[in-house]
Amino acid sequence: MNMKFAYASILTTTILAVSCVTSPETGRRQLSLVSDSEMNSMGEQAYKDILSKGKVSQKPQLNSEIVGIGKRIATASGVNYEWEFSVLDEDQVNAFCLPGGKVAVYTALIPVAKTNAGLAAVLGHEVAHAVLRHSAERMSQQMVMQQGMNITGAIFQNSQYRDIIAASMGIGANYGVFLPFGRFEESEADRVGLEYMAKAGYDPREAITLWERMGAMGGSRPPEILSTHPDPSNRAKALAKHMDKAMALYNASIKQPTTQLPKP
Ligand SMILES: [Zn+2]
Repeated sequence: MNMKFAYASILTTTILAVSCVTSPETGRRQLSLVSDSEMNSMGEQAYKDILSKGKVSQKPQLNSEIVGIGKRIATASGVNYEWEFSVLDEDQVNAFCLPGGKVAVYTALIPVAKTNAGLAAVLGHEVAHAVLRHSAERMSQQMVMQQGMNITGAIFQNSQYRDIIAASMGIGANYGVFLPFGRFEESEADRVGLEYMAKAGYDPREAITLWERMGAMGGSRPPEILSTHPDPSNRAKALAKHMDKAMALYNASIKQPTTQLPKP
């Protein structure tokens, strides 16, 4: 080992050692080179950009139903973000929650989600990605790989790292593509999302049928929520392991009867 390399590796080790945070939700140590306020500001800027380029649905009944479900999930997460929820009239079977609690649901997801509980399962999963700081973790890993990358005070649209920042949040640079988190992050979001939906009063057993419906879908653009879960039966098995805890949370909640979602 030469001295330069030794120094660099001590430096990197030191950065990593002092820059970890423990997730209160999972107890897991996470690399954190970017602050929550920086990450949330990036999320807010990207959200504005997406809404300004997209077609925001003006259907009042649909909007109030989706916002109602989203707010219950947000409350169940216990996180005090400045939550925002929008419905985007686009042919994408998808939804996302950007850092800081900026949520969007695409209309093509609605017939697949089918019920309020199905949508609560999707939103629980997406909100869990944000609360578990998966974007900050992925961005931090990028910062280690791209030494000297500095996003402090960056304006998202003008940043030279725009594509990397967008990718960290799971959105493609053109917003047409959604990039999967890793399989570990997806499983973590499934588990925590299941608890959120149950606490919010939605029957957690509906999550299993939702993922089965999703898994049965064909097409060349799999939803983000499916991208690293090629096998729906494995996913159902993993969820079943957490169902006892989820049912206990559901039974202690103010239950929301399962109803069909309005037509998009
Ligand atoms: Zn996901």
